[in-house]
Amino acid sequence: MEYPGNLFVVAAPSGAGKSSLVKALLELDAKLQVSISHTTRKPRGQEQHGREYWFTSEEEFRSMVDQGKFFEWAEVHGNLYGTSREAIEARMAHGDDVVLEIDFQGALQIKQLFPYAVLVFILPPSWEELRQRLQRRGEDKDQVIEQRMSNARVEVAQAQQFDFVVVNATFETALFDLKAIVHAQRLKYAAQRRNRSAVFQALNLP
Ligand code: 5GP
Repeated sequence: MEYPGNLFVVAAPSGAGKSSLVKALLELDAKLQVSISHTTRKPRGQEQHGREYWFTSEEEFRSMVDQGKFFEWAEVHGNLYGTSREAIEARMAHGDDVVLEIDFQGALQIKQLFPYAVLVFILPPSWEELRQRLQRRGEDKDQVIEQRMSNARVEVAQAQQFDFVVVNATFETALFDLKAIVHAQRLKYAAQRRNRSAVFQALNLP
């Protein structure tokens, strides 16, 4: 499948700072749109249906799976998460750039469907720093933190399958790196031909 818009997929272990980085990236770049996933997990804190996620029952989720409504879906930490066709197809067909903030299993499924998707993996600078960030967040009990750390080892082992790696040691530097990836993707020949068609025509470029 080929759409005119760029597709960016960002994955990371929990605590690496993925959500804050993607949020900051979206605030800086009006041409980027985030995809809203479906999930069977319950809303946390201030989360709203249709803003952070489409919160659904497991029954509804499974029926969507059966009807082929997802581009990808996966079980993460005991809940189901998926990117619906509806969430991104129209935007990409329209030429918008879309960001998926999903887990590594979903990212690899997206790469199969959209080989031109740009996969970015965000790494913490060390295991110790990751543990400290999870502890500082204060959201989880020790046992859950240990579970997240052991999941993180499995997740980080997948980083080599990604196109780009951003080490989030300093937030500003990691954000700069993410912006650079988005910018470079937009400068690729095919993307420039789409966006600067008048120049390409004037220069008789194919
Ligand atoms: P959380 O419950 O903390 O919001 O998300 C847990 C994990 O699920 C995160 O790694 C998040 O990126 C991932 N996730 C969120 N939406 C999707 C999705 O649509 N598909 C997949 N595969 N993972 C998702």
